[in-house]
Amino acid sequence: MGKVLVIGCGGVAGVAIRKCAQNDSVFTEICIASRTESKCIALKEKLAGKTRAVITTATVNADSVESLVALINKVRPDVVLNLALPYQDLTIMDACLATGVHYIDTANFEAEDTEDPAWRAIYEKRCKELGFSAYFDYSWQWAYQDRFRKAGLTALLGTGFDPGVTSVFTAYAQKHYFDQIETIDILDCNGGDHGYPFATNFNPEINLREVSAPGSYWENGKWIEIPAMSIKREYNFEQVGMKDMYLLHHEEIESLAKNIPGVKRIRFFMTFGQSYLTHMKCLENVGMLRTDPVMLNGQEIVPIQLLKALLPDPASLGPRTVGKTNIGCIFTGIKDGRKRSLKIYNVCDHQESYREVESQAISYTTGVPAMIGTMMVMEGLWKKPGVFTVEEFDPDPYMEALNKWGLPWMVDENPVLVD
Ligand code: NDP
Repeated sequence: MGKVLVIGCGGVAGVAIRKCAQNDSVFTEICIASRTESKCIALKEKLAGKTRAVITTATVNADSVESLVALINKVRPDVVLNLALPYQDLTIMDACLATGVHYIDTANFEAEDTEDPAWRAIYEKRCKELGFSAYFDYSWQWAYQDRFRKAGLTALLGTGFDPGVTSVFTAYAQKHYFDQIETIDILDCNGGDHGYPFATNFNPEINLREVSAPGSYWENGKWIEIPAMSIKREYNFEQVGMKDMYLLHHEEIESLAKNIPGVKRIRFFMTFGQSYLTHMKCLENVGMLRTDPVMLNGQEIVPIQLLKALLPDPASLGPRTVGKTNIGCIFTGIKDGRKRSLKIYNVCDHQESYREVESQAISYTTGVPAMIGTMMVMEGLWKKPGVFTVEEFDPDPYMEALNKWGLPWMVDENPVLVD
């Protein structure tokens, strides 16, 4: 049916590309392009003989619009799936506009250099106006709305698990179970154990920035910000057990607050063990999470990048991670004049994921929805000019695809609520 150009060849891309290769009646051609082409070639070789899709590879600097435009013009894909880092979102969107190609990603834009005065001025204004201080937000990509609309192109933002599947669960609950959703609690539980004292399940820089930032939630039309990790709850997760979870800021809160009319409160919780938190606090206290360069022996070093080089590569955690993830949403609201509550969730097993695609469940639960979102655009089911998050489309075909492609979901009509 069509050709996808995937940018990035890390943990998430490794899964998404394998899933595209499985789904070769839709993805007949796949070009894998990244900074380090050897990783793309290695993946292509692994897939040889296992798919009818024609796979090619390329090298690209996704920080350069020029380099991206040259690649897109050479490859001529139907869609570009951005699985590089959030730092590259805007350059890749610019390149898609310049070449007339649809755009898809899994994480909203974040500036790499948060000390850049031009970026900081806009950021500080946004902190004041909106009331949350995370380094990432949708404003940068929503600003492309008119340009994508005029170009007749679709930009589908945030088709991972959270954001992504959690937002589709919300659209599904809204469509089939509620006249009015009043509260949404998104619960992200990783019950996996990789056996290392400390490692992150996806890109350490992105992960640690997210977790060490102040938490925030949406209530009665505004953001409420709290110190990092200061709201803790316990929850008994199906197939995982009792876990501590902490309230974090998370990007889908921003888009759901905009797209679910009348919602009163949206919160996001993620589970962490005490050891993870102690390690992170220590790294933060000694400056290892800093994203600005420091001088060492006459050379500039960015501490968090050094930390990334020291920590286990998330892609290497697959064979040793055991246990399950349980990610989903609890909704409360009104249906036919009566109060109701509902949980929709998925449980994913680390070892089963590894057996299927040589990757643990965190990359699996992101890579599968990345493939599905791309398929929705390629098949024309989710195609309209402009910039959209996933809850703005009909959730039904996406929900069906989750069951088919490895992320089956369950509905609990009597869930335990979070206070
Ligand atoms: P990785 O660090 O494993 O992979 C990133 C890839 O992008 C690497 O192949 C890297 O190349 C490549 N890359 C980085 N910079 C450039 C550049 N300038 N030009 C070209 N290629 C580049 O990250 P993950 O796979 O863990 O994460 C990928 C994306 O998925 C991120 O945006 C992350 O935020 C998002 N994500 C979303 C989730 C969700 O549920 N929505 C959950 C988890 C992740 P190289 O190999 O040379 O380093």
